[in-house]
Amino acid sequence: MLEVAGLTVRHGRVPALAGIDIELRKGEAVGLLGANGAGKTTLLNALSGFLPHESGRVILFGETMRSGAPHRIARAGLLQVSQDRDLFPDLSVRDNLRLGCLARAKSRHARNLERVFGYFPRLKERIDQRACTMSGGEQQMLAIGRALMAEPRVILLDEPSAGLSPLFVQEIGAMMQALKREGEVALVLVEQNMRLAARVVDRFYMLRAGQVVAQGVASELERDHEHLAREYYL
Ligand code: ATP
Repeated sequence: MLEVAGLTVRHGRVPALAGIDIELRKGEAVGLLGANGAGKTTLLNALSGFLPHESGRVILFGETMRSGAPHRIARAGLLQVSQDRDLFPDLSVRDNLRLGCLARAKSRHARNLERVFGYFPRLKERIDQRACTMSGGEQQMLAIGRALMAEPRVILLDEPSAGLSPLFVQEIGAMMQALKREGEVALVLVEQNMRLAARVVDRFYMLRAGQVVAQGVASELERDHEHLAREYYL
């Protein structure tokens, strides 16, 4: 689905990613882990085309993606849910979801909406509520729901559990597991909550100072999360 080779990104003159190699296979969930400032968000922004890359290759569904073309990348089926969520605050839940579906055939709207409500029944109960009046957890669900409305084949989630209460973390974790079970959408998950990541991902990459410094499978994450946290986060 996604193959990244030698990806290098700079913020001005400061190197942010230095030769990243990662891959994502069909139906897979991959975690991007690492301390604050490791480059995880920068990598998501480069994958979705919001940040240009200086060198390296991003191959999405077998096609080389041009750097800095987020509209093309989204249309091809890669969607990012940023940490800021980027909702339309004065629009209702319904309209925020509808906007996610703009690039798809109108006939698919109702089906996609039901699918989103299947993951997040709470959004159906609040369909006429303005986005800005929703709780943080509900807004996170809405942001993910809006991305799902666009029928992505790859979805990038940037710390979906950040700042949420245990109940919401649980619900979002269950949604990610359901996505994985269904196997239609591959996931790239940036997550500080290692336990949650271990429940969801098949494999992980550990980033430090803009480089992949370790990688492994979920069972290693589950078994060694304390050691990994000490080694790479402290
Ligand atoms: P966090 O977990 O804190 O979100 P992260 O791993 O996602 O961290 P990034 O946000 O990708 O890290 O940041 C990587 C590095 O790039 C940091 O040193 C950060 O200060 C720097 N950086 C990020 N965005 C910019 C920008 N727009 N201009 C300059 N430097 C930036």
